[in-house]
Amino acid sequence: MARGIRVILLGPPGAGKGTQAKLLQDEFGVCQISTGDILRKAVSEQTPLGKRASEFITRGALVPDAVILDLVAERLKEEDCAQGFILDGFPRTIPQAEGLEGILKAKDLVVDRVLSVRVPHKVIVERLAGRRTCKSCAALCHVVFDPPKKPGICDRCGGELYQREDDREETIAARLQVYDTQTAPLENYYRERGLLSEIDGVGKVDEIRSRVSRALGDVTR
Ligand code: AMP
Repeated sequence: MARGIRVILLGPPGAGKGTQAKLLQDEFGVCQISTGDILRKAVSEQTPLGKRASEFITRGALVPDAVILDLVAERLKEEDCAQGFILDGFPRTIPQAEGLEGILKAKDLVVDRVLSVRVPHKVIVERLAGRRTCKSCAALCHVVFDPPKKPGICDRCGGELYQREDDREETIAARLQVYDTQTAPLENYYRERGLLSEIDGVGKVDEIRSRVSRALGDVTR
């Protein structure tokens, strides 16, 4: 039986991290933590966290590190994270990576591997502009590359599909710039720690899944 894994998926918005994270979650029985999904749920439920985060998300800016670190520390305490985790969209800054190290150290845990999913900006813009998200289960599809069987309806759960406000073309450019300046430096941070594997994120979902498997080879054995 496969053992638990602790993996970070790094990469720009639209790199396919969410899709791969859900596949790994199902395969390894570990939790998937998408800070973006958690924040969007909080926004739709209008919780204090949601009210605070909404303005940052709409602009394509990052929510403050301290808010995110609290949220992740709480989530990691939950039962479904006991065997490990797939982090998707976190950490996004060096202080978040340092904060994560501290949270894990207190539990005597470390990250097994960081996968950097690489996709050229041009491809990302095409992917994000056509991306639709399920309001109920957060599953993703694409109006051209992976259309739902019934327009506007999620294949997975029958929920309503919508276009995220920050997936509109105006905001995509801002999010990519934030990625280049604030998140891309994490590649070096994890490379220096011997944890980084780079993966070509262009191709079909199952092709990328195979590359992920190869990169995780020694971790999952
Ligand atoms: P995502 O779904 O990962 O693309 O995240 C959507 C938005 O949520 C981002 O553009 C940020 O505004 C916010 N967000 C998600 N994760 C983080 C994070 N780790 N740090 C700061 N902001 C975040």
